[in-house]
Amino acid sequence: MSLVELSATELLGQLHAGRVTSAEATQAFLDRIEACDKRVHAFLRVDRSAALARAEEIDSRRRGDAPVGRLAGLPVAVKDLLCTEGEPTTCASRMLEHFRPPYDATVIAKLRAADAVLIGKTNMDEFAMGGSNENSAFGPTRNPWDLTRIPGGSSGGSAAAVAARMSPLAVGSDTGGSIRCPAAMCGVTGMKPTYGRVSRYGLVAFASSLDQIGPMGHTARDAALLLEVLAGHDPLDSTSVDVPVPEYSRTVTQPLDGLRLGLVREHFGEGLDGEVEAAVREAVRVYESLGATVKEISLPHGKYAVATYYIIAPSEASGNLARYDGVHYGHRPDLGAMAAEWEAERKRLEAAGDTAALADMDNALIRMYRRSRAEGFGPEVKRRIMLGTYALSAGYYDAYYLKALKVRRLIRQDFDKAFESVDLVAGPVAPTPAFKIGEKVNDPLSMYLFDLYTISANLAGIGGISIPCGFSTGGLPIGLQLQAPPFEEERLLRAAHMFQTATDWHTRRPPLD
Ligand code: GLN
Repeated sequence: MSLVELSATELLGQLHAGRVTSAEATQAFLDRIEACDKRVHAFLRVDRSAALARAEEIDSRRRGDAPVGRLAGLPVAVKDLLCTEGEPTTCASRMLEHFRPPYDATVIAKLRAADAVLIGKTNMDEFAMGGSNENSAFGPTRNPWDLTRIPGGSSGGSAAAVAARMSPLAVGSDTGGSIRCPAAMCGVTGMKPTYGRVSRYGLVAFASSLDQIGPMGHTARDAALLLEVLAGHDPLDSTSVDVPVPEYSRTVTQPLDGLRLGLVREHFGEGLDGEVEAAVREAVRVYESLGATVKEISLPHGKYAVATYYIIAPSEASGNLARYDGVHYGHRPDLGAMAAEWEAERKRLEAAGDTAALADMDNALIRMYRRSRAEGFGPEVKRRIMLGTYALSAGYYDAYYLKALKVRRLIRQDFDKAFESVDLVAGPVAPTPAFKIGEKVNDPLSMYLFDLYTISANLAGIGGISIPCGFSTGGLPIGLQLQAPPFEEERLLRAAHMFQTATDWHTRRPPLD
């Protein structure tokens, strides 16, 4: 079997046993990228020689019996909003097209310390705003299962890279569903951990109270392997929580006895595609056959989650994105051309004797800020900045932002109550399988509604996982979502692994060849 067909856990076993070198493995994935990524466009950047040099360095340490890290020699792809020292980190935005951070994100430093081989930076929606990857300034990623369809977003490049066997593991980030949605659309396993489980230091911020970094791979075991490296308290992120990190990769194979699953009544209503519902219900039956009990629960405030999110996330984004002014950070327009325009306008107004307009002319600095942001940001990012600025402005703050924070609390309380009687909440990840590229681009509201099942976990701060649970008649993957109380990632992984011992959806391959 080709090396790219192996799960990360299998490949790591081969590397540790000395049956495969990291250089061979890395070369195999680089070849696969070469063969597929012109069609899929999962990567924004691949540095072949750096990846191979790194692999060889790890191999030589291993040959010399020097200590190696937990992921020694294993390729990992990372979303292009994680700062990599001296290497482009674009957030799929023109704004950061030439940005090279002066430091590594904590998760990148951890991957390096674990001796992973960073194989490339993956495509995404600009600044992680989107659910389809169509908002990338550098062109969309395509779903490996059907190249005319979206891979989900915003971590669509990471999901597609794993699904297409271009990387055994990938790192994504999830603010409202951005790991779970693309995992579902591409048929891979992806987890959003509890808020505070993984350090956000060096993650380019979208909505700081919601953003969380997490693992993506073929199986729950692979996700466990990666999460074990990513997770943990970090003094550089004051919101990361100092709770012990279990040995996920060891415990993941332990089944859960007497698992109690909650099915959310409100998740099986209007808007849910029939095939998705059937696959999810069948997945629940699989759990029952494994000894789980199932009960219907209610999350009564869930219906406000999308509205609440689209106040809170843009509000935070409008603040976070204020730094991109072409001075501190970001794209700087052509100053020579701007100065000439300014001068021409001044002359014209002088000739016309329009003293009022002359006095009103923006000064050069304001003009540069405006031009920088007008040129650097794409339409969805601008839409979010406007929404957020509006929601935070005087007179609207109480009516929108403060109200949204109160609803957010109620959403969390719904989960707290549900978890008094169930261990995990189970349900769909997204209302339909992957839609066609272009289908929703002119309808932001229907795009926003696509996240209705994933957003409440971010608002509540809890963890969730998406695992493959079936296919549509059109051959598109369907995901099952499990959600757990705070810091119960271990439970999510063990439950996901149980399912993967009884099913083989996660082993299916997209018809790319
Ligand atoms: N699709 C959602 C949005 O557009 C979630 C994005 C995310 O999780 N980063 O905001």
